[in-house]
Amino acid sequence: MPSKLSRRDFVKLCAGSAAAISLSGYLAPFMAEAVAAGAPPVIWIQGASCTGCSISLLNTVHPDIQKVLTEVISLTYHPNISAAAGDLALKEAVYKVAEENAGKFFLVVEGAVPLGADGRFCMVGEEDGHHVVFEKLLKDIGSKASAILNFGTCSAYGGVPATPPNPTNCVPVGAVIKDVPIINVPGCPPHPDWMVGTIAHVLLYNEIPDLDSFGRPKMFFDTIIHDNCQRRQYFDNGIFAKTFGEMGCMLELGCKGPFAHCDATTRLWNNGTNWCVQCGSVCIGCTEPQFPGWPMYERIPEMPVGPASSVTADQVGVVLGAATVLGIGGHLTGNILAGRIGPGKEKEEDVKVGED
Ligand code: SF4
Ligand code: SF4
Repeated sequence: MPSKLSRRDFVKLCAGSAAAISLSGYLAPFMAEAVAAGAPPVIWIQGASCTGCSISLLNTVHPDIQKVLTEVISLTYHPNISAAAGDLALKEAVYKVAEENAGKFFLVVEGAVPLGADGRFCMVGEEDGHHVVFEKLLKDIGSKASAILNFGTCSAYGGVPATPPNPTNCVPVGAVIKDVPIINVPGCPPHPDWMVGTIAHVLLYNEIPDLDSFGRPKMFFDTIIHDNCQRRQYFDNGIFAKTFGEMGCMLELGCKGPFAHCDATTRLWNNGTNWCVQCGSVCIGCTEPQFPGWPMYERIPEMPVGPASSVTADQVGVVLGAATVLGIGGHLTGNILAGRIGPGKEKEEDVKVGED
């Protein structure tokens, strides 16, 4: 029998767990105990989505996914995984469970909410011979939940379906349900640990984890990619890749790492295999509310980069341009970017003269 895991230790475990640790494997015995003692049910519903968040969860292999679903996250209903389907599933596994556990159950939402055409862009089932649209399902059961867990950037912030021209008039869940606490676990898709860890937190402690200003659990989203990137030294030395496959910082190719919050640099994807920049891509900032409405493979001029975010990507571009014209080297460029030398430092350097 596992001893109780304090909330403090839980948060430390989630925030500190890296590729080598199986978070769901570690949490399994604690969660099995909580589920056996009667943890509240979790209902998972899907709106306008690609199902990628569910696929990402299914990528949890330690322990195997069946154990995760039944013992770790206490899942009562999932549209892709549950054996029950159709009219009966909607009645018995969703509406009835929500009614019987009003104010206690947790609702996981994957996908944005299409409001266009009276919601008919997203039919989720039938009730007494009538189509049920996702907007209605969300309104019917969402306001009865103890909390809503938005899994993926689409339900959290609108994501791909809500990006202009947005013909289906998709909105995030928070635009429809306003009277229930909401936790956003963004990502396109989110890492399985972010989903498992967040569900485990609410089930074990019946409490919302500490959130940042965009509603994200700080235990997973408190770090900036740029701060822990393996290519950071290239950035500091002013060495920038001009094409994919080249060595160098990927800023000029559109990397959103200086802006994006997640712990992929240490947690790694695909069961500890790799992460976005390390495998040769830019960070596309998939955990941010602006995703994917920005130029994916272009430098965003006003994006803050560099120490204390005092330098913008556009200024980096200016320095790079000057470096090319003047033929100055990487270290010199890096020093300008880092603010160690250059016009902005003259006053400070003056003050320091004679101090030593
Ligand atoms: S801009 Fe991107 S590639 Fe460059 S150091 Fe930052 S996170 Fe890494
Ligand atoms: S590193 Fe960037 S692209 Fe990769 S998961 Fe994090 S925010 Fe998304």
